[in-house]
Amino acid sequence: MTQTTPRILMACSECYPVAKVGGMADVVGALPKYLTRCGVIPSVVMPRYDLPWFYDHEHELIHEGYLQYPHTVHPFRVIRYAPEILGFELIAIDLPGLFDRPSVYLDSNGEGYRDEPLRNISFQRAILQWWNSEPDRYDLLHSHDHMTGLMPFLMRHAYAYKGLSAKSVFFTIHNALHRGRLSWSAMSLLPHFDTWQSGLLEWDDAIDSLASALRCSDKINTVSPGYLEELPATSQGLEWIFQHESHKMIGLLNGVDYEVWDPASDKYLAYHMKKSLEQFKKKNKEALMESFENPDLPLFIFIGRFAHQKGVDVMLRSIHEHLLVRQDANFLILGSGDKDLEYQAQNLAHTHGAHVSALVDYNEELSHIMYAGADFLLMPSRVEPCGLNQMFSMRYGTVPIVHHTGGLKDTVPDISVGGNGISFTSVTTGDIMHAMHRALELYRDQPAMKSLRKKITSINLSWDASAEAYAEEYRLLLSPT
Ligand code: ADP
Repeated sequence: MTQTTPRILMACSECYPVAKVGGMADVVGALPKYLTRCGVIPSVVMPRYDLPWFYDHEHELIHEGYLQYPHTVHPFRVIRYAPEILGFELIAIDLPGLFDRPSVYLDSNGEGYRDEPLRNISFQRAILQWWNSEPDRYDLLHSHDHMTGLMPFLMRHAYAYKGLSAKSVFFTIHNALHRGRLSWSAMSLLPHFDTWQSGLLEWDDAIDSLASALRCSDKINTVSPGYLEELPATSQGLEWIFQHESHKMIGLLNGVDYEVWDPASDKYLAYHMKKSLEQFKKKNKEALMESFENPDLPLFIFIGRFAHQKGVDVMLRSIHEHLLVRQDANFLILGSGDKDLEYQAQNLAHTHGAHVSALVDYNEELSHIMYAGADFLLMPSRVEPCGLNQMFSMRYGTVPIVHHTGGLKDTVPDISVGGNGISFTSVTTGDIMHAMHRALELYRDQPAMKSLRKKITSINLSWDASAEAYAEEYRLLLSPT
């Protein structure tokens, strides 16, 4: 008989509004709310960071245990936040000394934590140890990215989790550039498992968490169909696995959480959408124009991680070259990450002070005002598994300018074919500058600009359809063959 109300445990490292670094948090904070409307009972399990959200909300201790390592034991606690708080049950794994830090992935120098292997393995082991003590609590594991990528293997082959070995596993790839590769010395951190199966952990002479998840999960999705198409040809050494496991992969496009991203009620906006979209854009733009000499010029924004993946280096060069010739636009850049790119962004603002403002920061509130107040969003990502920024910007009437790749090609067809924004084919200064020229031409044609704005705000970007598709996939996994 088909399991009609599957109970799903989603394991991940970020969840909005609890702890957010990027799009995974948006997804894990929204999808479970929409799943509950599709007859699924989702719970999210994540590490308990040293962040205010965990202390500010009522919680209960539901389990205590310890992890056995060769020369030490590590205690952990399992803490539950009731579904009334977020719209779904949240479980926080408290691992003292490992996750009680204020930042999710990076230390104060912007470097990844050196004890990442111990952190990630401990988190995954603690979840499995606790779940194995009451296996009936959830029917299926839904893991997200490499941080929880060893769980499918451990559920199947570690002796300590026998109660979970028959459970189905669904795995979501938010970003295949990060693989969670560990040297074989990390093997001593893993619980005892059937070593005949150790090949399922390995790829290219290391323990590869993502590669292992791809082989050991029952079903896998990428966060857009476009990204799924690209991975078997361009996945930095995992091509063979993507080709070999393609029979169990699907692309399910991310959505927008309409409760959070609502121009009529967004808690971060001082001016909400009433009757006029143009008025909404104008008022929110005013809030952003303080640092610019000529506030009447079109406003281009960038929001995101300063990483090679995001094409920030080429974008900064393109803006510089554009402004050397024409001072007909303003640029507001918000992001942080790679120190060299942070420096280059600040340098650009210093060189073109009247037209460029660069904020090296992570600022949720400002990002909402920027999506609402800008004319154009630049998104020149070299690789983009889905991308949420372009969807948030469309919801708020900001025209996206995107590289034709991954989820960007699924969500932003070019206006020349009746689409939603401006799309270019290669991440080069030539292509980006050409795209900016097209945007400025569009801006000068105000009737066309207004009609495009109106069109993109009316596109249905909500999670409804994708949540239904996830629910269907869970049901298929749980129905006996
Ligand atoms: P990724 O997950 O690769 O970083 P996505 O486009 O999927 O990219 O999601 C990025 C999310 O992070 C969006 O919600 C975006 O608004 C947010 N974000 C990224 N950088 C910043 C920042 N500096 N300040 C505020 N929000 C940011």
